Amino acid sequence: MNRMLEGRHALITGGGTGIGASAATHLGAAGARVTVLGRRVEPLESVRKIVGGSAVQADVTDPAQIARAFDQARAAHGPVEMLIVNAGIADSAPFAKTTRESWDRIIATNLTAAFDCVQAGLPDLLASEHGRLVFVASVASLRGVPYAAHYAASKHGLLGLMRSLALEYARTNLTVNAVCPGYVDTQMTIDSAARVAEKTGRGFEESQAIIASMNASGRLVHPDCIGTMILTLCLPQSQDVNGAAVTIDGGASA
Ligand code: NDP
Repeated sequence: MNRMLEGRHALITGGGTGIGASAATHLGAAGARVTVLGRRVEPLESVRKIVGGSAVQADVTDPAQIARAFDQARAAHGPVEMLIVNAGIADSAPFAKTTRESWDRIIATNLTAAFDCVQAGLPDLLASEHGRLVFVASVASLRGVPYAAHYAASKHGLLGLMRSLALEYARTNLTVNAVCPGYVDTQMTIDSAARVAEKTGRGFEESQAIIASMNASGRLVHPDCIGTMILTLCLPQSQDVNGAAVTIDGGASA
């Protein structure tokens, strides 16, 4: 992308692994100064070694840690002009067996933390000539998911937040969009396959194949497909893409 983001600062939550790491690689290759944020230092450092920029340790469910992390990021690279709200967790259980603890954990990480991260980054995003806010939502933002009502509820909420902010700030330089991946080849999907295997007695390979078959393509989405779309949404030329929920699922929603 010809280093079109040269010198601009992008902060990516959950940037140490999977989709977040791919976004970091793509934005970094386009010239952005990248801050990756997460709880585990090791994966963050691995990405930082490749992409440059900074790794900041923080748990997004703690607003004080978010505030500290954004301050650290700003001190190193200046105002956050692109914010990728990507950190997330998944779990599965029949609804009747879904505990309040599990519900709270999923909503806190996938939805409430998104609110807190946007609050922390918004003044910088609005001051930027090309402010970019991208949420990593899900196809579970668009339809119900049996055995994952809490996850689907959190991801539906994320789209409500995205759409509302896109309209509220439509007359500014900030754009607000979401990507909605189907099943992606990341640790989250490996963990889901392991849970299916454990609960159904099927082997891991078979469980992974069942999950892949839920994408119309029959294969898992490559994380770089999501990273590339996030990069595209962040480009200055994408200024009129606002309020979009871009589905990347191999065609299931066609
Ligand atoms: P990963 O498990 O690889 O990535 C999740 C990332 O979120 C990790 O880097 C993790 O880092 C970070 N994270 C989780 N909880 C917290 C927390 N409390 N504080 C800070 N960071 C946290 O999986 P993916 O890359 O697949 O997931 C990225 C996003 O994509 C998620 O929001 C997920 O819901 C979404 N998604 C994934 C799909 C898939 O099929 N994989 C499909 C659709 C959407 P650490 O543990 O070090 O904190």
